Amino acid sequence: MRNTVKRQLASVIPRNLLEKLPRSFDVLGSREGAIAIIEVPTELENYDEQIANAIMDVHGNVKSVLGKESERHGEYRLRDLRLLGGNKNTEVIHKESGCRFKLDPRKTYFSTRESTERERVNNLVNLGDNILVMFSGVAPFPICIARAHPSVTITCIEVNPIAHKYAVDNINLNKVQDRVTPLLGDVREVCPKLGKTFDRVLMPLPKGAHMFLDTAIPMVNQGGVLHLYHWASEGDLYSEAFQLVKGQASQLGREAELLGGDKVSLYSPRVYKIRADFRLS
Ligand code: SAM
Repeated sequence: MRNTVKRQLASVIPRNLLEKLPRSFDVLGSREGAIAIIEVPTELENYDEQIANAIMDVHGNVKSVLGKESERHGEYRLRDLRLLGGNKNTEVIHKESGCRFKLDPRKTYFSTRESTERERVNNLVNLGDNILVMFSGVAPFPICIARAHPSVTITCIEVNPIAHKYAVDNINLNKVQDRVTPLLGDVREVCPKLGKTFDRVLMPLPKGAHMFLDTAIPMVNQGGVLHLYHWASEGDLYSEAFQLVKGQASQLGREAELLGGDKVSLYSPRVYKIRADFRLS
């Protein structure tokens, strides 16, 4: 497919520049309407419109093409995206594993690349679990889990008001509103007011989740499970996460046992986004 886009562009962009266009790009949405997000090297910035038109010609469902302008940054973990071409309205409904997520990638975090991780977490959930999802964004984890496990109840917390609004819409769209409760706010303020603990707590904020362990650990039942997302180097994926959880648990009079984990994605050469799983007693 990418070759078809490049073939379209071959008559417009000099070959030495065209070679620099990345091999792949992300597509969010569905057959009814989608957005392509591509990293355009600075040398190709004068060709925004041509690149966007080629992608939209080849992929008939793509209505807008966005260019990555920055890494993710800030509390909301957004990246700067510029419209290369197409529709200015960049809200889409993304379909994944039978779930639908309405979102605008310019206003909320969402990664299509984490669908496999959502499936993996789904496989860890037990019958009747009461689950807390911190840093829940537009609610992909709560919705995937709730749809796959009719016996679970889920509370989720998100600080970005736009992401929270999408989470509320998505929970209704996926008909899990009877079992998923979305809350707006900072986990540090919301968690202590919940007045209950959970069988399973997810912390999907790789940049800095460990700084919220003092808030998360007291939310885990005796014998419950904590899933911490973290960045780790290839040679030693779980030691740092284990030390962080063990240290904070012991300060709170708890014990942590490392159950296992998974590589989620490659973040940079030899550095992975990982999930580490702990039982807390
Ligand atoms: N779990 C979602 C997903 O997988 O798409 C979002 C993950 S994103 C890496 C982290 C999310 O945490 C962002 O939406 C951000 O706004 C939110 N966040 C950051 N700090 C927070 C805090 N202190 N309390 C609640 N949410 C927070």
